[in-house]
Amino acid sequence: MSFSFSPGMGPRGAIHRLGSAEQEGRFFNRRVVAEMLRFLRPYSRRMAAAVLLMVLVTGLTLLTPYLIKVAIDEYITPGRTQGLAAISLWTAGAFLALYAATAGQQFLLSWIGQRVLADLRRALFEHLQALSMNFHDRTIAGVTVSRVINDVAVINDLLTQGLVSLVGDLLVLAGIVVVMLSMSPQLAALTFVTIPLMVLVTQVFSNHARRAFRETRTSVAQVVGRLAENIDGMRVIQAFAQEDRAQEQFEDVNRVNRDANIAAIRLSFIFLPGIEFLGTLAVATVLFFGGRWVVQGEVTLGVLVAFMAYVTRFFQPIQELSRIFTTMQSAMAGGEQVLRLLDQRPEVTDRPDGHPAADIRGAIELREVSFRYRPDTPLVLQEVDLHIAAGQTVALVGPTGAGKSSIIRLIARFYDASQGAVLVDGRDVRDYAQRSLRGQMGLIPQDPFLFSGTIEENIRFGRPEAGMEAVRAAARMANVDDFVRRLPEGYRTRILEGAVNLSVGQRQLICIARAALTDPRILILDEATASVDTVTEVLIQQALDRLMAGRTAVVIAHRLSTIRNADLICVVDGGRIVEQGGHDELLARRGVYWRLQQVRG
Ligand code: ADP
Repeated sequence: MSFSFSPGMGPRGAIHRLGSAEQEGRFFNRRVVAEMLRFLRPYSRRMAAAVLLMVLVTGLTLLTPYLIKVAIDEYITPGRTQGLAAISLWTAGAFLALYAATAGQQFLLSWIGQRVLADLRRALFEHLQALSMNFHDRTIAGVTVSRVINDVAVINDLLTQGLVSLVGDLLVLAGIVVVMLSMSPQLAALTFVTIPLMVLVTQVFSNHARRAFRETRTSVAQVVGRLAENIDGMRVIQAFAQEDRAQEQFEDVNRVNRDANIAAIRLSFIFLPGIEFLGTLAVATVLFFGGRWVVQGEVTLGVLVAFMAYVTRFFQPIQELSRIFTTMQSAMAGGEQVLRLLDQRPEVTDRPDGHPAADIRGAIELREVSFRYRPDTPLVLQEVDLHIAAGQTVALVGPTGAGKSSIIRLIARFYDASQGAVLVDGRDVRDYAQRSLRGQMGLIPQDPFLFSGTIEENIRFGRPEAGMEAVRAAARMANVDDFVRRLPEGYRTRILEGAVNLSVGQRQLICIARAALTDPRILILDEATASVDTVTEVLIQQALDRLMAGRTAVVIAHRLSTIRNADLICVVDGGRIVEQGGHDELLARRGVYWRLQQVRG
C-alpha cells in the first residue's frame, strides 16, 4: 500500500469535492425518481397493498370525528341514550381499524424499504466491481462507502416513507377540506384563515432547514472520510507520531458536524412548537367563534366538536409535508450521487463476441504501446515494443516511476492501451472475454493482500471449487504447508484484518499458493521489496521458481537472483524500454542497466 499526499488528492481535496457535490440537491429531480422507482417495481404488489391501506387510513381518519359528531348531535343533545352504546362501539371499532391499518401500512413500508435498501446496495456493489481500475484510481474509498451506505438510505426513506406519506397527507388534507366545507362552510373558512400564516412559517423554516440539513450531510461525510482515511493510514500516523495532529483534524470535522446537527435540531425545536402554537390558535379561534355560533344555533355542538378534531388533524399533514419536503431534498441529493456512480461506465469493456481464452499458450506482445492513465495526464508509456515467447520469464527493471507497473497492468488488462495493442497468443487482448483472459493469469501483487477469512479460503480464492487436496498441493508447492501445519488451527487459521497475525514472508507465500492453485498460463509478479529473513527469502525464491517453471512470467524484479534467472531483462526508463537482453550482455553495454547495478552496490 502506498500513500500519496499530492495536493488535491489528499483528504482535504476529497472533502472539498464531496462538499461541492452535495450542493446540488434540488427539490425534485424527475430522473432520480424515475430511476429509483425501478427499484420499487419488484415489490409493486406489496406497494399497492400499502397504498390501499393508506386510503383506508385516510377514510378512517376522516370518519372518526364524524362518528363523534353523530353521537353528540343525534344522541346526546336530543337526550337519546338508546343507540349511544352502538355508536360508541362503532367509534371504538373505527379507531381500532385505524390503528391496525396504520400499523399494517407502516410494517409493509418498512419491509419494502429494507428490501429496496438491500437491492440498491447490491446493485451498487455489483456496479463497483464492474468498474475499471481507472474509476477506482480517481475515487476515494471513503466517499464511495458513504454513497453505498448514507445516500442509499436517504433514497430509501424517500421511496418508501416519503412518497407514500406525501400522497397520504395530501389525501387527508383534501378529505378534511371537503368534509369541513360540507359540515359548516363558516367554520371551514375560519380554519382556513390560519393557512397562509402556516404556509409562511413553513416556508421560512424550509429555507433555513434546507441549508442546515445540507450542512449536516456534508459534514457527516467529512467525518466518515476523515475517519476512513485515518484508520487506513494509522500505521503511518503512529510511525510519524502524528496522533495529535490527526486528533486535531478529526476534532475539527467532528465539531463542525456536531454544530451543524445542533443548529438543525435547534431549528426543528423552534419550528415545531411554532406550528403547534398556530394550530392551537386555530383551535382557539374555532372554539371562540364556533362556540358563539352553537349558542346562536347556527351550528350544532356535534359539528363544533368534530371540527376541533378535524382542525388538529388538518395541521398534522401540513407539518408532515414540510418534513417530507426535507426528506425529498436530501433524497434527491443522495439520488443524484448514486446515479452519478451508476452512470459511470467501465472503461475496459468486453466486445459482445469476446473470444474465450480457454487454452492459450501464453505468448505476449506489446506492439507500439503508448499509454496515459487519463486523457489529461502525460503519457507514462511511449511506443513500447516487447515480445515474450510462451514459457519465457521476463524481468522488468528500472527506476521508480519508470512505467514497469503500468506495463503489467496493461498485460492484465486493468487498463487499455491508449495507442498500439497488447496481444496474447497473437490476439489483441481487447478481443478476449476479459474474465476468461484473467482466468489464465496469475497475479502476485507486491503488497501480499489477504482477505479476512481462513488461510484455506485465501488460497482457494481464485478457484473456490478446488478440493482440499488441490489446496494442499498448491500450498506444498509454495512452501506454505510447513508453517501452516505448525499453526494450532492449520488451514482453518483465521486471518485478521491486515493479516497482522502472519509475517510478511508468510503472506507472500500464501499469495504464491493462491496463484498456483489457478494453474495460470501467464504469471504476473510484482516482486515484493519488503525484506524478509534469509530463510524465508530462500523459501520464496524456491516457490517462485517452481511456479514459474513452464509458464510465461512477467516480473517486476528487485532481487538480483530473479533478474539473473530471467530469460530476458527489459530495462524500463521514462516510459520506454531502453535496453533488452541478458544480464552479462547488458552489463557489458555499460548503459542504464549497468548504472542501476552500480547503485545497487
Ligand atoms: P514503476 O512501476 O516503474 O514504478 P509506474 O508504472 O507505477 O512505475 O508509474 C509510471 C508513471 O505513471 C508514474 O509517473 C506514475 O506517477 C504514473 N502512475 C502510476 N499509476 C497511476 C495511476 N493510477 N494514475 C495516474 N498516474 C499513475
